[in-house]
Amino acid sequence: MKARKTVKQVIPAQKVNMGGHLLDQPLPVRGLDYVDPFLLIHHWESRLPGGQHPRDVGVGPHPHRGFSPVTFVFKGSVEHRDSLGNHAVVKEGGTQWMFAGRGITHSERQGKELAENGGEVELIQFWVNAPAHKKMATPYYQPISAEDTPLVEEEGSKLWVVSGTYKEIEGAAPSQSPQILLRGAIEAGSQITLDIPRTYNTIVYLLDGELEVSDTKLKRKDMAVFYNDGEEIPVKATKDTRYIVLSGEPIKEPVASYGPFVMTNESELMEALRDAQMGKMGVLIEEF
Ligand code: MN
Repeated sequence: MKARKTVKQVIPAQKVNMGGHLLDQPLPVRGLDYVDPFLLIHHWESRLPGGQHPRDVGVGPHPHRGFSPVTFVFKGSVEHRDSLGNHAVVKEGGTQWMFAGRGITHSERQGKELAENGGEVELIQFWVNAPAHKKMATPYYQPISAEDTPLVEEEGSKLWVVSGTYKEIEGAAPSQSPQILLRGAIEAGSQITLDIPRTYNTIVYLLDGELEVSDTKLKRKDMAVFYNDGEEIPVKATKDTRYIVLSGEPIKEPVASYGPFVMTNESELMEALRDAQMGKMGVLIEEF
């Protein structure tokens, strides 16, 4: 018999300033460093003015090690380049999926068209930790378009399966530990029941709109964290709502992070810093 996952905490996103960009950050917040295996969530909305050079938009080359930085694109585009030679633009409804492993250097920009012509951008980037025994594995990158993202459709509800298996539909991205990552859109007045394994730590974050999840009201930019006391999350939309569901088996290992590196202890972080400085995480020279 399936039981309901009840809400443990509702956390409103905090505004943070990242290099001049104001964005919404529901994780981490004071008192909550991470929800194992999810380490960070950034929600960025902006309108580019146009008339810019592509190199002046977005984030230039930087390294990562030890986890997966994943970007869901909701509006506009993300242009990815990396030290393995990958180069791809992902548009609305798509996902930039990267596993940093032992090290990769990438840039995350908006592309020539948006830089030159301007337009809206809306992204969610989140960081998923990797188990210790996979942190030094080979990095990889996978762009996933909207068309390549399987859709579970119910009356008034769409759920796109980015990773993991949800209601027997397999997502496009391979993860480093068991997880189910979903993007959802639900119309006001509709209701569905999410079905997530009991042991998975689970987060629901609203980009906009208003939902009741397990009888708890959430407004735009709220994040709900659930107890692992059941499998089912009843979702009722009181407004048209876009949301994400991040759920995963907790890794249950120590987390040590510094800037773009996530390891299990200080000495591994020192090594990461040294390796990055020595160019062991690759070199990326961007061509525009
Ligand atoms: Mn990055």
